[in-house]
Amino acid sequence: MGRADLHVHSLYSIDGTDTVAEILEYAAYHANLDVIGIADHDDLRGSLEAREICGKYGIDVVPAVELTTLEGHVLALFIERPIPSHRPLIEAILRIGEAGGLAVIPHPNTRLAHSLTHDDIRRVAAHPEASKVLVGIEIFTGCLLVNSQTAPLRGLAHQLHLCEVAGSDAHVRELIGSGVVRFNGLSAADLRKALLNRQVTPIARFSPTGAQIALTWTKKTLARRRDLLKYARQVGVYRAGQKRGKGI
Ligand SMILES: [Zn+2]
Ligand SMILES: [Zn+2]
Repeated sequence: MGRADLHVHSLYSIDGTDTVAEILEYAAYHANLDVIGIADHDDLRGSLEAREICGKYGIDVVPAVELTTLEGHVLALFIERPIPSHRPLIEAILRIGEAGGLAVIPHPNTRLAHSLTHDDIRRVAAHPEASKVLVGIEIFTGCLLVNSQTAPLRGLAHQLHLCEVAGSDAHVRELIGSGVVRFNGLSAADLRKALLNRQVTPIARFSPTGAQIALTWTKKTLARRRDLLKYARQVGVYRAGQKRGKGI
């Protein structure tokens, strides 16, 4: 049985703290993952970079992004090209399908993040084409301090015949593997098959305390901001106003 964490952020996310190489190293040797989805906010570069170098770490990569739609975040998995962000939900899901991808709804009903509601998910499931692209709901999100929605989300997944997915939403690598799915096989292709057949098992693991993680994230983010400012002053350029998705 393989283990996959499909919701990890790298430095290509505005709120990420680790390089792709650091993530792959941690995922393979500390979190014992077979497959990883680096899903940066509206940015496919981290995944593509990971796919180039993953052989070195003995781990397989699902090319992915966490797509910002007008209604909330959607994990676009197995996509081979960028997908426009900030579009209406149904259009975004259809575009994921056109790009060969599958969709999972991350952290539904979470106030802190830009999240979809149960009604949004039902609307996708009722759409004749979009429903073919949607394969799962993240019923456990490792980076959240409280997962109070797990029970109702499991009920919803069951009702709509969708996979129950656990993912970390790690913005610091120490959280990678705090939510994983288990599946038959070891590769990204095996995982795709398992998601389509609704044959994945979510595993939730409570790891370092919320306070420890928050402290690590704050330290790393501040250090990164300092480095960026130093670099900007050195080269005399400060790129601001770049359109990015909301974090988390
Ligand atoms: Zn995320
Ligand atoms: Zn999110």
